[in-house]
Amino acid sequence: MNICADLPQRDAADQALVDGVLRHQLRPLAKTITLIESQRADHKRRAQAVLEGLLPASGRSMRVGISGVPGVGKSTFIEALGLYLIEQGHKVAVLAVDPSSSVTGGSILGDKTRMELLSQNPAAFIRPSPSAGSLGGVAEKTREAMLVCEAAGFDVIIIETVGVGQSETAVAGMTDIFCLLQLPNAGDDLQAIKKGIMEIADLIVINKADINPQAATVARAQIKSALGMLRHTSPHWTPPVLMLSALQKQGVAEFWKTVNDYRTTMQASGEFDSRRRHQAQAWMWDLIDQGLRARFAGHPAVQNDLPALQAAVEAGRATPSAAAARLLGHLG
Ligand code: GDP
Repeated sequence: MNICADLPQRDAADQALVDGVLRHQLRPLAKTITLIESQRADHKRRAQAVLEGLLPASGRSMRVGISGVPGVGKSTFIEALGLYLIEQGHKVAVLAVDPSSSVTGGSILGDKTRMELLSQNPAAFIRPSPSAGSLGGVAEKTREAMLVCEAAGFDVIIIETVGVGQSETAVAGMTDIFCLLQLPNAGDDLQAIKKGIMEIADLIVINKADINPQAATVARAQIKSALGMLRHTSPHWTPPVLMLSALQKQGVAEFWKTVNDYRTTMQASGEFDSRRRHQAQAWMWDLIDQGLRARFAGHPAVQNDLPALQAAVEAGRATPSAAAARLLGHLG
């Protein structure tokens, strides 16, 4: 079976985008991401055609997820880390998953002015969160933007998210290492445990350790003992807890050394590649789920029957399973 036979064809304009990105040019990179973020059906088709051309050149970066509540110091840290990495010869792209932007129309993350020095650096590329659609849609576009940045030669991709809802899980599901920034407050760690974020963190950073180093040391011990009770994503890696001051740029080199240690450990155990394989498969199923839902919601017979069946279920006149079976039956 030739599975590639149905893939979209590229015209000259799309091929020019592919060539420009592969030559590591920033304008074609930004244009391609704009195409990916567009809601227009023709743009979506073109975006897929361009992505298809870029895919062979993607995948060669370290994908780092960074999360934490607003005010914890994410943008301060990402700017310090980004500048440090550029000094070491890396090219750094910063993307964001911010589902709040589609609800409120305003973005908590990704505002260029937040990382002023980094955004002016030619070895950096910063892109705010796509704003349209559900978390699934936002995450999907960020994943694709990540592939484009990799094809454009960025070898470190930082994906930032804020502690709202499921966005951490989405970002952990598209990165090689997921880092949680915490404040040196007693209780902050409990929030993260309650929300299940601590379980998916590969590395925990207590930021603002400069304000009260003693409190940060206490918080570190608390988090370490809490981590001892949790099951982690890998049997070969217990998430380290680092203390850091993003503002004073202290601990940034140690952070990156820990990321590299993690990568070496995961590559040796085979988990680095298996995590990516698993992520690619989960991504495909996400798209299938989204596609089926869209097809279901758009089906004329579903649209016709849905209000009455929903009312019947609410009133107890039909069982949810009977109503679901009838509606799903329309899909054939
Ligand atoms: P974000 O909302 O998580 O992106 O947080 P920001 O990076 O915008 O930081 C929020 C505030 O905390 C800003 O006023 C920063 O200057 C400050 N801040 C960030 N990191 C540190 C740190 O390590 N030490 C201290 N004292 N302040 C910090």
